[in-house]
Amino acid sequence: MKEDYYEILGISKSASPAEIKKAYRKKAIEFHPDKNPGDSKAEEQFKKAAEAYEVLSDADKKARYDRFGHQAFEGGGGFGGGGMNMDDIFSQFGDIFGGGGGFSGFSGFGGGGRRTVKGSNLRIRVKLTLEEIANGVEKKIKVKRKKVAQGTTYTTCSTCNGSGQVTRIQNTILGRMQTSATCSTCSGAGQIVDKKPTNADADGMLSVEETVMIKIPAGVVDGMQLKVSGKGNDAPGNGIPGDLLVAIEELPHEGLQREGDNLHYDLYVSFSEAALGTSKEIETVTGRVRIKIDAGTQSGKILRLRNKGIPSINGYGTGDLLVHINVWTPKTLSKEQKEFFEKMSNDDHFQPKPEKEDKSFFEKVKDMFS
Ligand SMILES: [Zn+2]
Repeated sequence: MKEDYYEILGISKSASPAEIKKAYRKKAIEFHPDKNPGDSKAEEQFKKAAEAYEVLSDADKKARYDRFGHQAFEGGGGFGGGGMNMDDIFSQFGDIFGGGGGFSGFSGFGGGGRRTVKGSNLRIRVKLTLEEIANGVEKKIKVKRKKVAQGTTYTTCSTCNGSGQVTRIQNTILGRMQTSATCSTCSGAGQIVDKKPTNADADGMLSVEETVMIKIPAGVVDGMQLKVSGKGNDAPGNGIPGDLLVAIEELPHEGLQREGDNLHYDLYVSFSEAALGTSKEIETVTGRVRIKIDAGTQSGKILRLRNKGIPSINGYGTGDLLVHINVWTPKTLSKEQKEFFEKMSNDDHFQPKPEKEDKSFFEKVKDMFS
């Protein structure tokens, strides 16, 4: 004995087309093979729900089923024992989730179906410090989004059957051409407001402020856009909400300059520090570190601090921090200081004698933490 289609979907015989669709959508999500890999019971339920929906969503088939029960489809080629195959079920998803791939989290939807109307996207900018970018950060952001007001009801637009699009087949000299355009009856919403509270807008929506938690991975780049699915504006009726698009803005850093995943830092030392050697504390994106300046260090030397840069957004390692040594030259001198430097300039030992290693840019880069 075959199970009753209404029981399979958990609805009463008086359920409206919208309720039937909603009930099926719920079952399809619950028993979807992507969510229940290798579970044959779930697959069985998934197929049963699809079969029930196939009949109950079609006015003619539903009427025959209501009158004759399962016998209505026996012998006539209908489902006769074999049931539906998975391809049939997935081709049906166009009605439920849209063929455009808008419903994320599922695979295997064939195209060809009608698209589900999606709410509009929201765009925001998030300003991040270099430290936040280097370490990754979670941000609580207040977003104003349109939500279907409680008490609003919709009816499916009969012009476009809820797709928001109308398709015309025209016979032209090039053959049959299919064109689609936004439905003028519902302006593309697919749904028409039936009832709405007085404070809701024309689409039955209210503007609400919601706090959205945005997880920003380490290594993002200025101008990059992150997508938070389903946090855009609601769509009317059975549509799915749009997305929240988060544009990343990198705030300038006082001491560090970013170049891809590497960072650059200008360090100034005095004549005597460069000649005698010293140690200096410098700022990095993960805290302060002390670095050693060797005696006899040339201005322009670059010290490489491995893995003290920005982690790669793709997960391929971390950049370096390049410390550029600049010997500071005083801009004014007292009489005594002048005499001191004049004495030095007469000493042949202080005349520049650059060696090969002082000239090559690449040889100037010294590994600190290698
Ligand atoms: Zn329409």
